[in-house]
Amino acid sequence: MRLRNIPGATEAIANSSFCIDNPTEYKGQWNEFFGNNNPIHLEIGMGKGRFLMDLAALHPDINYIGIERYTSVLLRAVQKMDELQLPNVHFLCVDAKTLDEVFEKDEVSKIYLNFSDPWPKDRHAKRRLTSHQFLDVYEKFLKSDGNIEFKTDNIDLFNFSLDEINESEKWNLDAHTFDLHHDSSMNEGNIMTEYEEKFSSKGNKICKLITSRIVK
Ligand code: SAM
Repeated sequence: MRLRNIPGATEAIANSSFCIDNPTEYKGQWNEFFGNNNPIHLEIGMGKGRFLMDLAALHPDINYIGIERYTSVLLRAVQKMDELQLPNVHFLCVDAKTLDEVFEKDEVSKIYLNFSDPWPKDRHAKRRLTSHQFLDVYEKFLKSDGNIEFKTDNIDLFNFSLDEINESEKWNLDAHTFDLHHDSSMNEGNIMTEYEEKFSSKGNKICKLITSRIVK
């Protein structure tokens, strides 16, 4: 998702109390930042952030941080948060590849990746958010008992992601389905993202996997 440049987006984000513009300063101190010891969950590539905000409203005892690299997209999330004012949600406008500069070892309990950009060309595989290059970044700050939940309707990206996990000695495939909305156990409590609603309403099947770290 990349919206056209929106005049004023950068300023609106810089002025929003929900967006942290110097996130590396909080590395290792995110619980102090939130003022509690609640677990920290991330959505990486959150787009307009509806999924994250729905989740945060349901779970006030979890701290949520949404990561989105484009100001034009993040602006929509900021506008929504101006209405909702959820105390357990903040946003970062950064590229996910730098997240190990933002979070300390064991600082994050869960990562959501929803409808990540597929980057279909082979030469762009390392840009996919489930590539082993990105998994190596997540491993640096995900707790040893933490996990990643990934949803997509893109079967090529899903198969690529399964391969990356199965070929890795650092990640275990805990569960997966090629048809989430007809898998009663994996679909229990599912919160739809904007893309999930759009693609499932067209008849696309939604795939989901859950992977956790193997700690030796
Ligand atoms: N997660 C939302 C959903 O399911 O409705 C949005 C999905 S949209 C296709 C993917 C989003 O991920 C885009 O807004 C894009 O800018 C963001 N994104 C892609 N690569 C990223 C990266 N390396 N770091 C941060 N955000 C990224």
